[in-house]
Amino acid sequence: MTDARPHNGGPGSTSSDRNANSRALFSRARRVMPGGVNSPVRAMRSIDREPLFIERASGSTIVDVDGAEFVDYVCSWGPLILGHAQSDVIDAVTRAAAAGSTYGAPTAIEVELAEAIVERVPGLEMIRMTSSGTEAAMSAVRLARAATGRDKILKFAGAYHGHSDSLLVDAGSGLATLAVPGSPGVTRGASEDTIVIAWNDGQALAAACRQHEFAAIIAEPLPANMGLVPPEREFLKQLRQQADDNGALLIFDEVISGFRVAPGGMQELSGVEADLVVLGKIVGGGLPAAAYGGRRSLLELIAPEGDVYQAGTLSGNPLAMAAGLATISQLDADAYAQLASTTQRLDDGLRAAASATDTALSVVSECGLLTVFFADRPPSNYEQAKACDLDAHAAWCRGLLDRGIYAPPSQFEAWFPSLAHDEPTIDATIAAAADAFTEIATR
Ligand SMILES: *Cc1c(COP(=O)(O)O)cnc(C)c1O
Repeated sequence: MTDARPHNGGPGSTSSDRNANSRALFSRARRVMPGGVNSPVRAMRSIDREPLFIERASGSTIVDVDGAEFVDYVCSWGPLILGHAQSDVIDAVTRAAAAGSTYGAPTAIEVELAEAIVERVPGLEMIRMTSSGTEAAMSAVRLARAATGRDKILKFAGAYHGHSDSLLVDAGSGLATLAVPGSPGVTRGASEDTIVIAWNDGQALAAACRQHEFAAIIAEPLPANMGLVPPEREFLKQLRQQADDNGALLIFDEVISGFRVAPGGMQELSGVEADLVVLGKIVGGGLPAAAYGGRRSLLELIAPEGDVYQAGTLSGNPLAMAAGLATISQLDADAYAQLASTTQRLDDGLRAAASATDTALSVVSECGLLTVFFADRPPSNYEQAKACDLDAHAAWCRGLLDRGIYAPPSQFEAWFPSLAHDEPTIDATIAAAADAFTEIATR
């Protein structure tokens, strides 16, 4: 952000006239939508603020309905690796829309995107497109159950795989933010086949695998829904080994890490390959698309080739396919080098700013992902993430908003720097963050 237009009211203001349009929309929204939002974390309740209503965005800048500008590190929670309104993506989507937005019949563009994904992601021979990561993860579990003839799945506390019933047990993300221990409305039947253990706990993993026969072990190989909590050394290898010994399929949910940390996601970085991979967010380039895939013998169990049913009215729709293809075809080695160096600059700067205050902070990052934990050590599991100083984190996020920085309003989410975040923007962010650290230290 290079200009200095006013942002959200300046330090300390929570409800000035500068928020008048947002507040008016919020009161209308609350009348017709639960909490005034269509997805919970947007409500900003965990940092005790009202949601921003957005009017437009471009590059790394997002503008609310009151004309306040922010540097955006939410970036729609992951899809926008190129930043907002990237010109090639707009062109591709505009051309697709002019030719009809959906036909419910196959098109060339979905074949092209499927080929591009299969080419880049290790272990994939075939994929099936869906419209959301929730659907893709749910369908991958269904496929694993069908392939193994088993019911139980193993997941990790604080891992989010969308909101389907059997995966909503001990999930992080919005559930963590709302401090809801699961969800009412999920039947005992749906949750009793889900075994949950702590992330990075090799002993719990071995014990669970001795006790149960699993259809699948499902993991975010780079968990980012309890904040960013990378696997400890060898843990992904242990997952692979235990799955093999158990006769379970290993499912990597790379909805966030896919195409973000490398073209082949965390599989490429770690060298550990799963049996099924779930993709989302970046594969839709900012439109609704996701996918699950794996080797041919597994994917051929899906209808109409096999009898595992899964379908979708808008699956593979041409707008989302065009946006996805326009996005991932720009992600070459230079792009990842740039994103890694942008993230490192942000990491270094935040770390330096944090060490200049008395606040206990840990910065964790990977290419394109970062979390500032309010704890003196980086958490290695969900319990530790929950033990962070959530009040201080919330105060810091409010301080950032007051200074024109829109960071994820929850300790249990990651920042999403994009290729549109340039060095001056990162440096301005670090300066604002340092100010906000000082402000909360003197609270
Ligand atoms: C966002 C997310 C999902 C769910 O994707 P939706 O498109 O929101 O349904 C699943 N898994 C992970 C790891 C995610 O981050």
